[in-house]
Amino acid sequence: KWDEILERVKVEHELGDVSFKTWIKPLEVYKVDGNNVTILVPSQQVGLDYVSKRYLLPIKVAIAEVTGMDCDIHFVLPEDVEKRTEEEQIQKSSQLAGLNPKYTFDTFVVGSNNQFAHAASLAVAESPGKMYNPLFLYGGVGLGKTHLMNSIAHFIIEHNPSAKILYVTSEEFTNEVIDAIRTGTVAINKLREKYRNIDVLLIDDIQFIIGKESTQEEFFHTFNTLHSAGKQIVLSSDRPPKDMNILEERIRSRFEWGLMADIQIPVYETRMAILKKKEEEDGYTINNDVLEYIAANVKSNIRELEGSLNRVIAMANLENKEITLDLAKQVLADLISPNDQKSLTPDYIIDVVAEQFDLTPEEIKSQDKSRKVAFPRQIVMYLCRTLLNYKQQAIADAVGIKNHTTIMYGIEKIEKEYKNNPETKEVVDLLKKKLNPPS
Ligand code: ADP
Ligand code: MG
Repeated sequence: KWDEILERVKVEHELGDVSFKTWIKPLEVYKVDGNNVTILVPSQQVGLDYVSKRYLLPIKVAIAEVTGMDCDIHFVLPEDVEKRTEEEQIQKSSQLAGLNPKYTFDTFVVGSNNQFAHAASLAVAESPGKMYNPLFLYGGVGLGKTHLMNSIAHFIIEHNPSAKILYVTSEEFTNEVIDAIRTGTVAINKLREKYRNIDVLLIDDIQFIIGKESTQEEFFHTFNTLHSAGKQIVLSSDRPPKDMNILEERIRSRFEWGLMADIQIPVYETRMAILKKKEEEDGYTINNDVLEYIAANVKSNIRELEGSLNRVIAMANLENKEITLDLAKQVLADLISPNDQKSLTPDYIIDVVAEQFDLTPEEIKSQDKSRKVAFPRQIVMYLCRTLLNYKQQAIADAVGIKNHTTIMYGIEKIEKEYKNNPETKEVVDLLKKKLNPPS
């Protein structure tokens, strides 16, 4: 039909053969998307400006006459198309790789706390598999490990859209391994093919493979295959390998083969810079005293820092108020106690424990009795007892469990395990450290 349409333009506008051959014949339909028709103008000589000024309307009319369609016409050049296909490819690759589009080097604020980790990540992104393999990033909750890992992957995809990249959390990896084992040999082989035929593997929160035998085994072989093929591996953890006490030695030593880089708690200036960046990205203008108040008081977790700002903005929007220091103080009252010290509350304990086990606070407070949730919940009970000296009833209120025997049992169980089970001791000690950071 396209030829017919072009022919009609020619006839109706009494174009000579030469004009027709020069301007009209070379046009091609690139894409039809609903009412939008995109027409490719094949070469610069044809002159996009000229064609679009002079022939847009005639083509529109001819299309309407031939197909009955009232359309919007867009003209594009080959280089636009190429760029667009490349952008689409990049977008597709990052989706396939499991990435968060917001976490890039561009949106990452560099400060003294993360300078080294940032530089190492950039180096790895620039020459994957060549310099530091594996790259092992570690640091506390909410300090930017996931953001950096995503940045590395985005950077590599942008510079090499066909690179095969996989980003997974160690929990996703574990689930895949368990599923494959349950399903049988074919599934296991498929899983191996998936993980061993890639250029870059990023596994987030690798500490969760501790104590999971088959996952560790699978990881070990995947690691060896990729590493010896010169493929880049990036890992993150909430602690350095040397503190992963019960991890098999052969795995821990591999973590230390390449480069280890830690991320610390950001200083005040960096916290301010992060809030400013966020303000800019979200397109808000917020008084400095509000940002300063948040930066001064939310110290040890960037996710909370951002969350605090979001809460203030949300409240202002909801109540149609201006964002003022008073409003910020009011909204963040439960997060920031008057003496500028983060007070230890059951909710805070629940947040930290939930984060540690990759759960949401709501799950901890739910009635879910599966071990995945019950065990962290028991730890919450235990921590409320040991750190806050809470009585049964108060703990019951905090975790939303009515049965006091369940609570007593939970606390005793963790007490016992704390003495006899090094794995439990390790995680409880880590949580205590996170809850009571040396200030
Ligand atoms: P982690 O994986 O270490 O727990 P995340 O990478 O999830 O932490 O970071 C928590 C939040 O803080 C994310 O929204 C992330 O974008 C943000 N964030 C962390 N570090 C920075 C930074 N240096 N600059 C900007 N945003 C950051
Ligand atoms: Mg993370």
